[in-house]
Amino acid sequence: MKTISHWIDGRIVESTSGNTSPVFNPATGEQTAAVGLASVGEVDAAVAAAKAAFPAWRSASLSKRAEVMFRMRELVDANRKEIASLVTAEHGKVLSDAMGEVARGLENVEFACGIPQLIKGDYSEQAAGGIDVYSIRQPLGVVAGITPFNFPAMVPMWMFANALACGNTFVLKPSEKDPSVALYLAELLAQAGLPAGCFNVVQGDKVAVDAILEHDDIAAVSFVGSTPIAKYIYETGTANGKRVQALGGAKNHMLVLADADVDMAADAAVGAGYGSAGERCMAISVVLAAESIADELVAKIADRIPSIKVGPGNEPDNEMGPLITAEHRDRVRGYVNNAPEEGATLVVDGRAGVPSEGYFLNPTLLDHVTPDMACYRDEIFGPVLSVMRVAGYQEGIETINANPYANGTAIFTRDGGAARQFQFDVQVGMVGVNVPVPVPVSYYSFGGWKSSLFGDTHMYGPEGINFYTQAKVVTSRWPDPSTSSVDLGFPETR
Ligand code: NAD
Repeated sequence: MKTISHWIDGRIVESTSGNTSPVFNPATGEQTAAVGLASVGEVDAAVAAAKAAFPAWRSASLSKRAEVMFRMRELVDANRKEIASLVTAEHGKVLSDAMGEVARGLENVEFACGIPQLIKGDYSEQAAGGIDVYSIRQPLGVVAGITPFNFPAMVPMWMFANALACGNTFVLKPSEKDPSVALYLAELLAQAGLPAGCFNVVQGDKVAVDAILEHDDIAAVSFVGSTPIAKYIYETGTANGKRVQALGGAKNHMLVLADADVDMAADAAVGAGYGSAGERCMAISVVLAAESIADELVAKIADRIPSIKVGPGNEPDNEMGPLITAEHRDRVRGYVNNAPEEGATLVVDGRAGVPSEGYFLNPTLLDHVTPDMACYRDEIFGPVLSVMRVAGYQEGIETINANPYANGTAIFTRDGGAARQFQFDVQVGMVGVNVPVPVPVSYYSFGGWKSSLFGDTHMYGPEGINFYTQAKVVTSRWPDPSTSSVDLGFPETR
């Protein structure tokens, strides 16, 4: 059985903790590897390597850091298929979707190539007589990233590209469910010329996470995962004096108004609901359908479902793969089992006709869902789309704003005024107008509101640069003996 290890100080380091976790091919249910879970000592070794590498890396010129990112950009681009295949083998998502993940991750490396421009400060000449004031942004030191199973390539790239370009060194703790991609990215960074120790990977579970949160030499933690863990990371990390951004779970609504193009809305709901088997934090899980078009919309969604090709992700024709684990598949099935008892209508039953091997559940459609039902209240994170009927815009916006999650949302309408009002009213971090999965491009920033984000800073883009740097303001005067005198007053500018 293959063992998946750590990457510390520029090389593979076997785990000696004696604890491992199985890694499966979700399309077959076969165990393909065991990942070594780091002990506290192994986390210490990774942090020590990152700490030792920091002084030289923060001193490297901006051109040098940009050059490494440009080379990394070329390497990720040249190895898109290899990375996507690794994602598919351990996560299960279909290859085309994995290629999309790599492309969206790569955008962040491309953004980080602009670091000389991104990290510029301000300069004010003659702020007071003979005095100039300027601001500079400096790296924090060793920073850590803790990432979820559902984007094993993209989410690490959201974090490390900007963190490294800003001059920090990095310790990544990937999900133990799909740990291989992180090691591949570590090798590419080494090939790109990143000095040993600047980027480290510790495989692990809660032991490794807690060691990161408690480590005195880690200055900041970026986290992406479920809401309860995000809250824990934020509270524990900040209590230990760290800067923390912790992105949590989601329950994303798509409001379809009576004037929408119903075919376009049905296509969007199917793509955003069932893409990646619903295991996306930006998946649409609830369609709020205006009553007058709800029957038509539900029928059009149901019509499209049978043509979705479900099967192993490495077979090129397939459009939807399995769920990540047997436990998760059973949990998602549990919501489908209970929904009719709670009063929902099971329009398309995805429990039927699933392959006997692997962790599959077919696309499922629920109608007449109401806010009190478990399938509405909880993040399901599977291929289950719920339709809730609303009178119109007002009930739709009130429903969205009453939900504790606030990651993404979308409105489908032909009415520009309604779309503009929605953008103004909705209490959600990322909004689509006739766009169902509005993941911001890398030169904006990604993040939800309310229970979908703990911390003040969104991830990547300009907010990523702010998160991974601290500002310093310098007030300077060059010696001019003719104006020198003792002054006990508070410095004034006039
Ligand atoms: P998860 O919260 O179970 O795990 C995320 C990370 O935390 C992993 O590295 C895991 O090893 C670690 N972890 C798990 N349990 C822990 C514990 N008790 N203590 C300390 N660390 C722990 O999430 P997941 O199942 O890997 O990913 C799916 C979740 O992530 C969904 O809720 C999804 O919405 C969310 N997600 C959010 C975003 C976003 O940007 N908001 C993006 C992707 C995924």
